[in-house]
Amino acid sequence: MSTSPSADFSWIQTLPKVCLHDHLDGGLQTQTMIEIAQEIGYELPATDPAALQTWFEEASDSRSLDRYLETFSHTVALTQRPEHLRRVAKEHVLTLAGDGVVYGEVRWAPELHTEGGMNLDEAIEAVADGLMEGMEFVAEHGGRVLVNQLVCAMRQNDRSLEVAQAAVRHRRIGVVGFDLAGPEDGFDCAYHQSALDYVAENFMPVTLHAGEAAGIESIRSALLQGRALRLGHGVRITEDFSYTTVADVDPTGELMPGMNPTDPILQLGQVASWVKDRRITLEVCPCSNLHTDAAYAVHEGKVSQSEFARTIKEHPITLLRDAGFSVAVGPDNRLMSGTSMTREFTELAQNFGYGANEFFELTMNAIEGAFISMDEKQMLTRSVQGPYLKLIQAQSQGQS
Ligand SMILES: [Zn+2]
Repeated sequence: MSTSPSADFSWIQTLPKVCLHDHLDGGLQTQTMIEIAQEIGYELPATDPAALQTWFEEASDSRSLDRYLETFSHTVALTQRPEHLRRVAKEHVLTLAGDGVVYGEVRWAPELHTEGGMNLDEAIEAVADGLMEGMEFVAEHGGRVLVNQLVCAMRQNDRSLEVAQAAVRHRRIGVVGFDLAGPEDGFDCAYHQSALDYVAENFMPVTLHAGEAAGIESIRSALLQGRALRLGHGVRITEDFSYTTVADVDPTGELMPGMNPTDPILQLGQVASWVKDRRITLEVCPCSNLHTDAAYAVHEGKVSQSEFARTIKEHPITLLRDAGFSVAVGPDNRLMSGTSMTREFTELAQNFGYGANEFFELTMNAIEGAFISMDEKQMLTRSVQGPYLKLIQAQSQGQS
């Protein structure tokens, strides 16, 4: 399917979506930030919502890690009281509903929200209350969305076991998984072995930020030490890719007739093969990946081992899908990247010509990877497939 940038993509917003990689503290609304800042006497870099949005997006796109991290210092400073955490959690659910999301997993790190006196349990309960209020509000207005929590521990801190125990304690109120966030490079999963063992012993599923700020060894550690069922981004899995040629694989030309002998053939190393063959979900967030130099660039169907993707067109998402990986798309940090599921999908439609078929695949991958029961996955599948199949039919008729 070919598209032009001026084509109408308004149909994407109402497509039912499943959102697995979405940070609560990366998705505050600027108006809310200004109101909370006034209430607690906190100084923000701008006092007008539009100017504040621009400040966040510029800081995120500055290629300066210090400026990028500064953005979170503000959102975290504003959410140290239970009523404020509850408010942003409720608003996040409304944002998801407006984005067409029917199932979401929102992640955040309770240990970053204890400076105002909350303990981990109180913080998790405040978010659970806010999510519930949001879901009830959406239902009262004729919509439907289910949002669960993923609880993160910070890699650079030493509270991961405590956080893991708090996560497991709150499974009954919608905590469905555990994650390690924060600086990946230099803070290996092995430093958090006791937390990772604890969640495994309690059969709580794990997704780990890995293969974003560090490479294949970090992914290996997430799989071995972390028993990760999903990878937060995981885009540097491409470090385990190599290429041979048609001539090497098929010197006589009998196996692949018609192929150019110099065409590249992708070969996967052991780690990449495991991720692909075991259907470990890659939670890919294209806009964020450009901001943090996470993904290597693709040129003419081949991925670089040194140059980072600077445009969506260079992002490896299509290469990963074509290679057979289970890819799900997420927004990562809605505020910092000025993004949403709708924007990520729209970028993919504009840059790669994705249509209903591709979005259905991404959504089914997300359902497969979601940390919910098989019964819930089947219900979710039934609820999303109708709109997609209708659209696939309409788009294929439009093309013929
Ligand atoms: Zn993330």
